[in-house]
Amino acid sequence: MSAQIIDGNAIAEKLRVETAAEVEAMTRAGLPRPGLATVLVGERKDSQSYVGMKRKRAGELGIESFGHTLPASASQEEIESLVKELNADARVNGILVQLPLPDHIDDEKVLNAISIEKDVDGFHPLNIGRLAQKGREPLFVPCTPDGVMYLIEQTGTPFKGANAVVLGRSNIVGMPAALLLVKRDATVTICHSRSKDLAGVCRQADILVAAVGRPEMVRGNWIKPGAVVIDVGTNAVPDPTAKKGYKWVGDVCFEEAKEVAGWITPVPGGVGPMTIAMLMRNTVRAAQYAAKKLA
Ligand code: NDP
Repeated sequence: MSAQIIDGNAIAEKLRVETAAEVEAMTRAGLPRPGLATVLVGERKDSQSYVGMKRKRAGELGIESFGHTLPASASQEEIESLVKELNADARVNGILVQLPLPDHIDDEKVLNAISIEKDVDGFHPLNIGRLAQKGREPLFVPCTPDGVMYLIEQTGTPFKGANAVVLGRSNIVGMPAALLLVKRDATVTICHSRSKDLAGVCRQADILVAAVGRPEMVRGNWIKPGAVVIDVGTNAVPDPTAKKGYKWVGDVCFEEAKEVAGWITPVPGGVGPMTIAMLMRNTVRAAQYAAKKLA
């Protein structure tokens, strides 16, 4: 059996077209363009590149972007006061503070300072808390796990009563993905570095989400035949045949898993493209929310 490939590039493109159409409809209705503010602290190359990609995508969809850069030596107070300024700026609908922040900064306090209505990354403790509570809905959901759910939805696989296994319990991927699956009535097992018999647990999964950051850890014989496999992992491994000397692989051994799974995401081209697409959708939703409040 060979799995059907979940094409994250095509699905993210469809989402971007829908998001751009919503921006267009807003401006036609005389509303201001949605605005996304990015806050980059320090000079990490990977963070600079992520922020650059987010601002580029925003521009392509007609979303205004406001870039703010602070030196790595910026103080807690300086970062929080910038966030407060952005909270008060009506042109800004979404605030994205690029993580990780330098070691001397308490990132929880910074995330806490973001207005919950502008928390388009979905990391505000209140939004996460609501995600964890029955009968409560967050205003925004973290973008990568939101993208994971969107990809599973595209397969038409029912969530209700499905056995879902999430490998990884990080604040940004594993835990919110697990909470989202519970909200959709899946029966969820969360695994981490101290879990035993990972292979045996994974073999029970109708839906398997891998977010551990360990290249090709999940082997073909860990997969239940017909399962939906979502590979969040993005790991650079040496590849002398590649121009750059490395290639990207997921947490799942794709070649083995595709022979057993029903559906599978490739790396690259699976979850990766979804994260920024979800961020753009959240920014437009924040703008729609702000416009409704003013109406
Ligand atoms: P973290 O390092 O924050 O978390 C990794 C999780 O995996 C932890 O919960 C850890 O357990 C668990 N883990 C680590 N090793 C093992 C193991 N051998 N067996 C079982 N569990 C293990 O990573 P992130 O959640 O931030 O990211 C995970 C992966 O997803 C990375 O490859 C990252 O690059 C990728 N990623 C991709 C994104 C995208 O847009 N495509 C966005 C974000 C991340 P414990 O808690 O016990 O330490």
